Amino acid sequence: MYIVMIASECAPVAKVGGLGDVVFGLCRELEIRGNSVEIILPKYDCLRYGEIYGLTVSLQDLWVPWHDRSVHCTVYFGFVHGRKCFFIEPHSPENFFNRGVFYGPADDDQRFAFFNKATLEFMLRANKHPDVIHCHDWQTGLVPVLLYEIYKQAGMTHPRVCYTLHNLAHQGVTREHILRATGLNRPGYFFHPDRLQDNFNRGAINLMKGGIVYSNFVTTVSPRYAWEIMHTDQSFGLGHTLHVHRQKVGGILNGLDYEVWNPGTDPRSAAHYTVETLDQKYANKQALRQRFWLRDVFKPIVCFVGRLDHQKGVPLITHAIGYCLQHGCQFVLLGTSPDSRIAQHFSGLKHFYNDNPDCHLELGFNEDLSHLIYAGSDMIIVPSLFEPCGLTQMIGLRYGTVPIVRATGGLLDTVFDANHANKPYGERNGYVFNDFNTAGIESALERAIGMWNNFPQHFRELMANGMRTDYSWNHPGQNYLNVYDYIREK
Ligand code: ADP
Repeated sequence: MYIVMIASECAPVAKVGGLGDVVFGLCRELEIRGNSVEIILPKYDCLRYGEIYGLTVSLQDLWVPWHDRSVHCTVYFGFVHGRKCFFIEPHSPENFFNRGVFYGPADDDQRFAFFNKATLEFMLRANKHPDVIHCHDWQTGLVPVLLYEIYKQAGMTHPRVCYTLHNLAHQGVTREHILRATGLNRPGYFFHPDRLQDNFNRGAINLMKGGIVYSNFVTTVSPRYAWEIMHTDQSFGLGHTLHVHRQKVGGILNGLDYEVWNPGTDPRSAAHYTVETLDQKYANKQALRQRFWLRDVFKPIVCFVGRLDHQKGVPLITHAIGYCLQHGCQFVLLGTSPDSRIAQHFSGLKHFYNDNPDCHLELGFNEDLSHLIYAGSDMIIVPSLFEPCGLTQMIGLRYGTVPIVRATGGLLDTVFDANHANKPYGERNGYVFNDFNTAGIESALERAIGMWNNFPQHFRELMANGMRTDYSWNHPGQNYLNVYDYIREK
């Protein structure tokens, strides 16, 4: 099968969070299974260019209709750790992708709407007729809309579209100007509840809604999140749309790239280990302590890695740091926040804990360091308010770092409580709490820390259970292929 993946992120060249990991990992799995896969990305100035091999111009002159003019673009090709990637570079005064960041500028709606238009123009010009186009999140929600409303008439009749929702908290709610810019025009037609009109703001269009309505199949990143967005208030207003299209909606648990995240071979950790040589993990703990100037004492290290965002449970992360330090643990955090108030809060905390020999907060994005933290910590917290899938708990499991998570979304599909899970002991792998409050997280931390101190052998079993679980792309890869086959036959 020939698949074109269109996304705003792909690890490691353009990664903000889990989306980047998923795009890379899924593409690798699809290729291993014999499919031909190409990825199309914006050519951001902040790409990690060192990770691209053989970057060359693939198409010198691509002219993309935009408003009442055409924007000159150059399309590049290069390999990202073996994956075939095209990068679209517009030459226009707006400098869409030369902003030093992946997301955040006020005109993100235009930046990504332009990217969607440019990918379709590129595919048309380059005569690409994939069996499946796979798009991700609001940044590519217009692709199926443009394909159906414009490019089908221009000859692109073959591709079917799979659209994956990674996070419904961001939907790309915008205004009419996007219709004019992309040539969709006809506001009377698109401002309709069955098409792009936002379900709550009748004067706005919703790009994610467009993706849901116009694609052939919609997946989200865990079965539990698929259920939550259709049956609870987690849909951020898209519940009705998903309900209307429920026949084509399903949840597929994300996989983890077991090559990238492999404690047995990880070049970014200090020592390699497997479930059979678990003692070697200790060398990573030592290295982590050295790296962060933590004292060498007999204590567990609890960590948090992730975006410092409202979604991730900022008050509970803050509370957990204090609780862990008071209850005989060390704490390590790696995270960054585009929200200035949250960023300020954590730099205040960093200052507060600066002289504490049991705590280190690293505020920034550092892929290499994240590997050492996963390898060197004993436990990882994921106290999210909501979590579509969550990769950090899965990485924790892979590295024998016991996850302590809130019972929501994909966290519920992957972590099974040591004491309460409705599973055999051999499948229990962490700690789960229900209530999004300090008592909730304390209840789980207390049990986990108690187990580490009083029943080390049981704690070790939990670590081993996690390491033995298969959360690789093996199963999800097949599930996506089943979806692709299904939409091709329809
Ligand atoms: P989300 O997609 O909501 O950000 P996930 O748990 O699905 O959360 O994925 C997060 C991914 O991003 C993981 O691979 C994690 O290691 C990585 N990550 C997040 N923040 C950082 C950071 N500050 N430095 C390095 N890696 C990070």
